[in-house]
This record gives sequence, structure tokens and C-alpha cells, in this order.
Amino acid sequence: MLIYVDIDETICFYEGKRDYPDAIPNHTNIAKINKLYDEGNEIVYWTARGGTTGLDWTTTTEEQLKNWNCKHHRLEMHSKPSYDLLICDKTKRIEEIMTKPDKKEKPDIVKEYETIRGGDFQEWWKTLSKEQQITINEYYGR
Ligand SMILES: [Mg+2]
Repeated sequence: MLIYVDIDETICFYEGKRDYPDAIPNHTNIAKINKLYDEGNEIVYWTARGGTTGLDWTTTTEEQLKNWNCKHHRLEMHSKPSYDLLICDKTKRIEEIMTKPDKKEKPDIVKEYETIRGGDFQEWWKTLSKEQQITINEYYGR
């Protein structure tokens, strides 16, 4: 997928005045986008910085993306208009971007589940708590 990602208040935030050089990275959100990059999506950071004032914030923004380790294919600075609200059927807020749990973080109960074979399975399954059964099912996305 080709994914356009906003910068301010999406992968960074401000304490007080919104002054671009003072942006503070939100590493949780950056990790979400980096994961989408790692999964093979084309990531374009898209910002209207300078769109109202006419100032060119390209160098500052490029340095921030580099310093914050934001994986991306390109930065588009001058094509995004300034607006107050975007209504579109293809948008998501960053809070809606969920990352699947890393398969390397396998819960112990899932490891045990994978060792159970054949006729013992039904009996073993009945010994599990509801939470353990949910953990296994969620791990396999069912
Ligand atoms: Mg924004």
C-alpha cells in the first residue's frame, strides 16, 4: 500500500507553542509507521509545514525524520494544503493503527500448546483457564 503519514500531532507533539524545531518525537507512533514500512508498504511523510507562512521547513523536517529514525520512502512538503479537518473514507487516526503482536513474543502457554499432540489435546485444553484459552486464540488471530 501507498501510505501518506502526517507529521505534527501524529508522530510528534509539542509542549506549549507549536514551534517546529521544538517538536518532540512520539516513539510509540513512529514505531507503528516503521512497522508498516517493514511490512513492505510505501511510506510518504506528508506535511503542510510552511504552507501558511511560506517558510521552507524542509531541512528541519528531514533532520527530524532522520534523528527520530522514521523509516520512509520520501517526504512531501509542498503538496499538502492547510486545513482544519479532513473528511475522507481512506483516513485513520494514528490511534487506530494497531500493530500485531510480534510473533517472537510467544507466551509460555502458546509454547505448551504447540507441544500437545493427538488424543491428549482435548483433555489438556479442558485444564486451561479461560484466560489461557483466550491467549492462545488471540495469538493465532482467531
Ligand atoms: Mg497534524
